[in-house]
Amino acid sequence: MTAARDPLARLRAAADRRAEAGLRRTLRPRAADHDGLLDLASNDYLGLSRDPRLVAGAVAAARAWGTGSTGSRLVTGTTALHAELDRRLAALTGSAAGLVFSSGYLANLGAVAGLAGPGVLVVSDQVNHASIVDACRLSRSRVVVVPHGDTGAVAQTLAEREEEDALVVTDAVFSVDGDVAPLAELHRVARAHGALLVVDEAHALGVVGDGGAGAAHAAGLAGEPDVVLTLTLSKSLAAQGGAVLGAPEVIDALVDTGRAFIFDTGLNPAAAGAALAALDVLAAEPDLPGRARDRAARIAAMAAGLGLETAPPAAAVVPVFLGEPHAALDAQRICAGHGARVGCFRPPSVPKGRACLRITARATLGEADLTTLHGALAAVARSTGRSLHT
Ligand code: PMP
Repeated sequence: MTAARDPLARLRAAADRRAEAGLRRTLRPRAADHDGLLDLASNDYLGLSRDPRLVAGAVAAARAWGTGSTGSRLVTGTTALHAELDRRLAALTGSAAGLVFSSGYLANLGAVAGLAGPGVLVVSDQVNHASIVDACRLSRSRVVVVPHGDTGAVAQTLAEREEEDALVVTDAVFSVDGDVAPLAELHRVARAHGALLVVDEAHALGVVGDGGAGAAHAAGLAGEPDVVLTLTLSKSLAAQGGAVLGAPEVIDALVDTGRAFIFDTGLNPAAAGAALAALDVLAAEPDLPGRARDRAARIAAMAAGLGLETAPPAAAVVPVFLGEPHAALDAQRICAGHGARVGCFRPPSVPKGRACLRITARATLGEADLTTLHGALAAVARSTGRSLHT
């Protein structure tokens, strides 16, 4: 009899290899005050996650509707709050109809897998978020991944297709590099070839466009029947959940057949209450999106001025490219040592050789905060030998 194989041995060996490459990840509970560090890592772009108005919205929703939505949206999981949120997200983005999901991840699975399928070509940008990549896989469509931002490749792929139907899918603002997709051009191409354009507004909603209506709205695409939007409630709206917005035909298709919608429990009422309160704040304080964008532009200018490699931000996300995972981890530690908590992204979240700091701006950042970050980034620049000032 041969000795039984240890089924965990290969997992331990793989973990050792990841450790060597600087690719282990740690789940450390954060303190409510970020251990006294300045938070420049979260996606709380408008600084609303502790806002008393959102907390009150969440508490009131939990008191009225309970701690869970109690069922899928088609059974008991649609409360008056969900219906109002469906409508208000559609109104904000200028869409005909909306449908709230329990996360942005599931909204992408629902939209892409629900609207594609065998016989429908999907054209996806190379840098799209992992939830879109997974949605493409789940769709069982033929998927063509095109180079980042290459509308010519999108046009050629659509023109040469054998499938009658097609979907073009893209992040609006890319989640790590922070750049914006050429949405008007993508729409022109998609329309010319009879394809639907699906735009993930996760990092654009609440930050880009008048009143934070998003990048598609800013590109003049609001209400176009062949444009479908997905979004998350977890970033600028400081709640949790997601949504798909689009023509009534799109929403009907997802309600009837979207597996990520049908088989998931409806969004927690407290999250719906917080998101509705966030929409009220956004309407009452229309300068918030512009303030978030201004802080991001200042952070990028600061990094570039220190000789660090960055990219002009379209919204609140500012990358600082360091190259190898260990260099990015070191830079993150240096920032923490200087009082700033920043994100550190390594493969597989970014391509090999593109490990980076991901710094997120927030509308509420003040001069003292920017001074703290300047100190941290100057130390990073010195450590990498890139500083223009030492
Ligand atoms: N799309 C993009 C571009 C994202 O960055 C994220 C979240 N990181 C999601 C979708 C998923 O949203 P959620 O966190 O609400 O599931």
